[in-house]
Amino acid sequence: MELTWQEIGPGVHVRRHEELNLNCGLVVGEERALVVDTRSYHQHGMELLAAAREVTDRELVVVNTHAHYDHCFGNSAFRDSQIYAHTGCVEDLMRTGELQREQIVAHMRRTDREEIARDIEATEIVLPFYLVEEDTGIDLGGRDVQLLHRGRGHTDHDLVVGVPDAGVVFAGDLVEEGADPHMEDAFPHEWGPTLRELLAADALDGVDVWVPGHGEVVDRAFVEEQAVVIERLAERMGEVLDDGALGVEGLVSGCRGLGLADQTLRDAAVRVLELRT
Ligand SMILES: [Zn+2]
Repeated sequence: MELTWQEIGPGVHVRRHEELNLNCGLVVGEERALVVDTRSYHQHGMELLAAAREVTDRELVVVNTHAHYDHCFGNSAFRDSQIYAHTGCVEDLMRTGELQREQIVAHMRRTDREEIARDIEATEIVLPFYLVEEDTGIDLGGRDVQLLHRGRGHTDHDLVVGVPDAGVVFAGDLVEEGADPHMEDAFPHEWGPTLRELLAADALDGVDVWVPGHGEVVDRAFVEEQAVVIERLAERMGEVLDDGALGVEGLVSGCRGLGLADQTLRDAAVRVLELRT
């Protein structure tokens, strides 16, 4: 599969990467262009930058949707750019950045990818420095994008990037296609309501092209369905706990049958138990 940008709206592009099925975005305005997420390490970021430069020579601005390494460790390739993220993203990166690095490096070594392990070790974690706490518009010249945070979900600081004039939104990992929603840092009881708030947001009114953090571009109905699945999971976990189930495995076995993998249930169970204490 050749890596190319796919234009999903006027001047709005998505680039899907084989690694993790990750989606990055590019929104081109008359004066500036916006890159959404920067991939996993410096070389990956440089490659993304070169690809963006094939589309536009305008000044680049960057948004990180959240602090997971695959969305922001490529920031070092964009250090000339204004990099936007939620305040909580920076706090999370300061707290977990080196730990995330250790974990991926170990994973790469276990799977015989020494060269990538070294590249990740050598990558400088560049923190976003344009910090967002409430809805923020970015003027790209002739078009505005909207950065929205509607509560906790995949993390405590997910930002989505709306491009209202094109009817597109980049949802980060709040929406996941082709795999279960990732629960390791999630707030299972708040994720569904957060998706509902986004679906109802004025800036996203009628927007029907949703770009997930990973996987195929989806529509509004897919996002509504994902909200239902996550709400069902949260509700079931509550019931199972009320029934006196103890421990992660009790929660997992009580929540089977919702169409989610055991690993997803296990991650969600760990989170639900952590968040109760
Ligand atoms: Zn993530």
